[in-house]
Amino acid sequence: MVKIELFVCDELKFSLILKRKGISLPKISEMSHKSGFVNIIGNPNVGKSTLMNVLVGDKLSVITPKAQTTRHRILGLVNGDDFQIVFSDTPGILNPRYKLQESMMKFVGTALIDADIILFVTDICGKPEIEEKVLAILQKTKIPLLLLLNKTDLAKPEEILAKREDWSALLPSTEIIEISALKKINTEILLNKILTLLPEGEAYYPKDELTDKSERFFVSEIIREKILLNYHQEVPYSVEIVVEEFKEDSKIIRIRANIYVARDSQKGIIIGNKGDAIKRVGIQARKDIETFFGKHVFLDLQVKVSKDWRDSERMLKYFGYNQG
Ligand code: GDP
Ligand code: MG
Repeated sequence: MVKIELFVCDELKFSLILKRKGISLPKISEMSHKSGFVNIIGNPNVGKSTLMNVLVGDKLSVITPKAQTTRHRILGLVNGDDFQIVFSDTPGILNPRYKLQESMMKFVGTALIDADIILFVTDICGKPEIEEKVLAILQKTKIPLLLLLNKTDLAKPEEILAKREDWSALLPSTEIIEISALKKINTEILLNKILTLLPEGEAYYPKDELTDKSERFFVSEIIREKILLNYHQEVPYSVEIVVEEFKEDSKIIRIRANIYVARDSQKGIIIGNKGDAIKRVGIQARKDIETFFGKHVFLDLQVKVSKDWRDSERMLKYFGYNQG
């Protein structure tokens, strides 16, 4: 049976195993075991999280139409009898404006170095854009690199060809694969390609393990996704979630979570008129958490102010950023 585990790289002890649904995985013919880190990088909004979720076969990473949804590096494991692929989704590449973003960029920098295979995701929207520093690293890297031209479902063949040529000019020796993560076009081909490039080696992580820390992580990611979907402008990016309590019995999971905002004014916005807004977030999050765990959930959300947490080293540490 193929299992999926999820880790946050800065807290490797976070893990969760999910039974893999649906997708059939190709078998590697060799008798030996293969394993490796496959790091997914690219600009914000190109479809990195969508792709990782398709590749690992479940909704592990938060996806919304807004940029910067993925703050931490998220690891998703695909385990077979004779292989283990450790996918890592990263925040989009951007110029840091806050300390938070600086530490998000550290994850991207590390992702370029500690990979066995790099997936550089681009999409067919707009001109090819890439941070100079990142391009320089990609041009020089000895690590197997695949350039993925995503969202091909949105473009005509001639537009795709033009984009392919633009990228070939920047990265002449890099293999380009056209995909649509959303429509799952060429994603099985990509998975096969990854398996052929994967080095031989033992599994990095246990193929079965369960801790409740990862469950807390999933819960906070689901709540954060609902906040991103329900509020506008800067507010969602000023929010951090801490799951204070996660108690499971045979019938129900009781969860208490704090939503931290950076300013008093944001607290009012999150709560909304007569608590309408926070209630909506709570209902939507609870439904998703119930689907995720397959169990009834009681969700208690509190809004708290942590002044300017994005610029506070101490709070960033508390929220799990800046750990290396
Ligand atoms: P990330 O910031 O790179 O992780 O991007 P996300 O995975 O969060 O996706 C950003 C947006 O692009 C979401 O609205 C996705 O549904 C959309 N998207 C991702 N892949 C595709 C694709 O192949 N085709 C289309 N049409 N949309 C996509
Ligand atoms: Mg993402």
